[in-house]
Amino acid sequence: MGETDGPWGRMTGADPPGPGKWTGLRPARWGLWQFGVPTGVVLAAANVAGVSGIAWAIMAAPLVTGNDWLMFGLLLGCALVYTEVTAGSEKRRRGVRTQRGTVEFIDQASIWFFSSALLLPPLTAGLLVVVVRFRRYRIAMRPLTLWVSNTSAVLLSVAGVSLLRGWMLGPRKDFDLPIIGQGANLNTTLLLVLAAVAYFLIEAVVVGLYRAVRFRTWRLADTLGSREDNLLLLHTLLVGLGAVGAAAITPVALFGVLAVAIMETRMLGRLAARTADRDRLEVDAATDSLTGLRNRRGFLPLANATLRLDRLNGRPTGVLMLDLDHFKRWNDRLGHFGGDQVLQAVANALCHNIRSGDLIARWGGEELAAVLPDTPLAETLTVAERIRAGVEALTTDITTPAGAEEVRLGHTVPPVTISIGVACSPQHGTTLADLQDLADQALDIAKRNGRNQIAIAGQRPPHVPTQPKAPEHEQSRP
Ligand code: GH3
Ligand code: MG
Ligand code: MG
Repeated sequence: MGETDGPWGRMTGADPPGPGKWTGLRPARWGLWQFGVPTGVVLAAANVAGVSGIAWAIMAAPLVTGNDWLMFGLLLGCALVYTEVTAGSEKRRRGVRTQRGTVEFIDQASIWFFSSALLLPPLTAGLLVVVVRFRRYRIAMRPLTLWVSNTSAVLLSVAGVSLLRGWMLGPRKDFDLPIIGQGANLNTTLLLVLAAVAYFLIEAVVVGLYRAVRFRTWRLADTLGSREDNLLLLHTLLVGLGAVGAAAITPVALFGVLAVAIMETRMLGRLAARTADRDRLEVDAATDSLTGLRNRRGFLPLANATLRLDRLNGRPTGVLMLDLDHFKRWNDRLGHFGGDQVLQAVANALCHNIRSGDLIARWGGEELAAVLPDTPLAETLTVAERIRAGVEALTTDITTPAGAEEVRLGHTVPPVTISIGVACSPQHGTTLADLQDLADQALDIAKRNGRNQIAIAGQRPPHVPTQPKAPEHEQSRP
């Protein structure tokens, strides 16, 4: 689904929600218009629809009987025990999703909402939803506006299922059980299937509409949500149907369903945490810890794939090899810790001077490598010049040991500079290894030409003086 990958797997932006969940921001402001007027209108409409829907269903249903209240008590007890016992797991699952930038969430409490919609008259089913959602709110801490509207969407689904039941099974004097069991027939089976479909679709429509307006994506796939989420929702509804079946056999059997639901939700929480750990390890293994850039492991597969793709599509690719000038001297002057800060500042500057689709890596030490997809030589040179000028213009405070003189890169000390070798596919080569080799040779020429400059692959090396050169440290010192 439409996750926006930031540089190097840092997920940014929110994700299109699937049915059964709202996407939101961290609680900041609580007004209905905090997400803009169009979204506010959708949220308000969801509230009106939810309240009207449940009111309509309540009016269309017979009065609540004593048996209904007993069943209500039993289901509410199960739902609240479930909510309390699974609070930790749900928090963990929510946390993982928020970390990934996909804050939408399938609330597995739907097991109880859906089964209540089938087992209880709408008044008690609606009451159960409100009580449980209220309790859940205190655990989840989502923006109140979204929480209320999501509750309205659930109420609308419950109302839909209630009305469907009324239409298909006819009005009953009593919502007494069983609705399936001895009296089970094709109509009842059909009702259970259609109820699940209706519950799913109503939330899908409301949430999809919200999604489309808030994030301006009208793609059906975005609106319907990810396959994984939909499977989870389907599973949740099936467990809900299990609760209906259990209650039809004997209401005490609901405790069995409760136990299964708790075990499953806890398992999902553990699974989500483990998946998050694995993702983090994968990202760590491919990232340079000092600069946050990709390391070779994170860079090479993508760089190779980029080149292949560009070649297949007849597009050019730019390749850069970059090396900080006289970096040893920076270390000598600022200490290794100071040198590290310069490296971090340069990495940061580089990230600001490339496009989001460009790949950049710390190749090793103070050397960097970049691959620019769909970029011809002239444009590659423009990017290289932008990087060179960006590094030269870099100003940053370097933290020095206590008592040492204050160091301000580009002010109290001269700016740091970078040399860049450039090669381009297809004119210089077509494999990454060849292009990097040529760009590296060009980098060598840039160094020999005096540093702080760009050289293109295939350029002739400068005339090498026959007389011994002055030692490097007598040249421009940082
Ligand atoms: P040139 O302009 O020819 O590239 O000169 P240079 O001094 O940059 O080149 P050289 O390759 O001889 O030295 C690179 C230095 O970069 C040596 C090493 O101490 C330093 N360096 C490499 N990795 C790191 C790092 O992670 N942190 C710090 N502070 N310094 C590093
Ligand atoms: Mg260097
Ligand atoms: Mg070097």
